[in-house]
Amino acid sequence: MELNKVKTIDEILNDTDDIKLGYGGIRIHTGPITENKIYETAIKTYGINTQSRVFVEECAEAIVEVMHYFNRGRGTLDDVASELADVEIMLAQMKLIVNNEAGEDLVENYKQVKLLRLETNLKEER
Ligand SMILES: [Mg+2]
Repeated sequence: MELNKVKTIDEILNDTDDIKLGYGGIRIHTGPITENKIYETAIKTYGINTQSRVFVEECAEAIVEVMHYFNRGRGTLDDVASELADVEIMLAQMKLIVNNEAGEDLVENYKQVKLLRLETNLKEER
């Protein structure tokens, strides 16, 4: 998958040539597309409904760890980092799902608008 190309679900479901499943789990081929291939294979394997639920669960776990560490003086930085990694992995899959359904990089479009708004707000703070 090209990094900025939005794929159809059929393309995602039928294009797993860079990942081979084995007894030891996923064997990763080298190359810049490896990470997206893993996400695409996860969506294919578990389905959109499951991955969207797992995304919500991972967000909730991250919320708990961030609150514990930064607001309650509990837990560890490793706990926070581990849950943030989970959220990043699931967020990447959600972006693929949403952008595929939209037929464009909708998340990035909104991100640019919101970054511009943040930049404007920060200038007004000065
Ligand atoms: Mg987690």
